[in-house]
Amino acid sequence: MQKQVVIIGAGLSGLSAAQALNRAGIPPLVLDKGSRPGGRMATRPFEGAIFDYGAQFFTVRSEKFASMQRGWEARGLVKVWSKGFNGQQDGHPRYIAPGGMNSLASDLALGITVRNGVKVSGISLNGGQWRLETDSGEVLVADGVIATMPVEQTLALLDFVLAAEERETLGRIEYERCLALMAILDQPAELPEPGARQLPGGEPVSWMADNQRKGLTAVANAVTIHAGPEFSLSNWEMAAEDVAAIMLGQYQASAWKLHRWKFAKPSVMHPEACFVVTAPCPLVLAGDAFGEARMEGAALSGLAAAERLQVLLSRP
Ligand SMILES: Cc1cc2nc3c(=O)[nH]c(=O)nc-3n(C[C@H](O)[C@H](O)[C@H](O)COP(=O)(O)OP(=O)(O)OC[C@H]3O[C@@H](n4cnc5c(N)ncnc54)[C@H](O)[C@@H]3O)c2cc1C
Repeated sequence: MQKQVVIIGAGLSGLSAAQALNRAGIPPLVLDKGSRPGGRMATRPFEGAIFDYGAQFFTVRSEKFASMQRGWEARGLVKVWSKGFNGQQDGHPRYIAPGGMNSLASDLALGITVRNGVKVSGISLNGGQWRLETDSGEVLVADGVIATMPVEQTLALLDFVLAAEERETLGRIEYERCLALMAILDQPAELPEPGARQLPGGEPVSWMADNQRKGLTAVANAVTIHAGPEFSLSNWEMAAEDVAAIMLGQYQASAWKLHRWKFAKPSVMHPEACFVVTAPCPLVLAGDAFGEARMEGAALSGLAAAERLQVLLSRP
């Protein structure tokens, strides 16, 4: 009989897992609390311009992710943007999506059943299956689950099933926050080629990119500014106007919007690409907290989780 699989989260890890399971003849159901697939591959319109306000570019190190990148490139969804920032070329291509990073999620969601606006608020075991409860009170059952939400949330949902050792291992994972500002500046930002300034360790600002020069929007001076982790944490509760004023610094903006990423980037990760929970039914955790804290890590984690889940599901 066909196994029912639910994937929680339609970010890059969840969708990569979904594609792999689909290819293996196990079409999953993907649930996401957001209004559209993508998670931190986030793109939005604002004041007539288009902004990437989560992931900005990606790099490729593994053959598995290279194969995804080649597919996107062949379909015109990604292109090389630069081979370095701040005037320094290190030879490694940085890829961007001219249709916005979110267009890659839309591409990965093709052929997959994704239900958006569905938040999983409870998980329990019932008669040899997982029982998932949503915040609207709906109940879904599954033979296997891949959970890709931030690990802190997974821990809260799965506390009843985790062994003390598993709780301790997963409890070590930590995330940095990021305050992300989308702004239309009154004057050119004058960013170096290719249209971005990367300031590793920079506080209050660690990144600034011009979305017009990325090819996302025709609107000039539509920039995305990311705050560094220290500034983001210590000013998390600060009024948006005050955060914007500090992040804009010397620049004036005719319009701006602030997004607060609470789980922006794992700073302490689990070394394996996914995590199999010891439970009576198959349950695998995935996401960029497993392996590598970047888009490639999320994709590889999703693929690894799909492989592990297939093995677990095939056991009698
Ligand atoms: C500001 C910022 C800048 C970044 N810049 C880069 C970059 O330049 N290059 C790079 O490689 N990476 C970058 N990253 C990291 C990259 O975005 C992530 O590594 C990757 O997108 C993570 O994918 P994921 O699937 O693991 O998680 P997510 O994309 O977070 O997906 C998890 C999904 O789970 C859903 N979810 C959570 N809880 C529930 C629930 N209870 N029920 C249902 N759904 C739920 C969420 O809505 C979300 O869609 C950046 C991230 C941020 C925030």
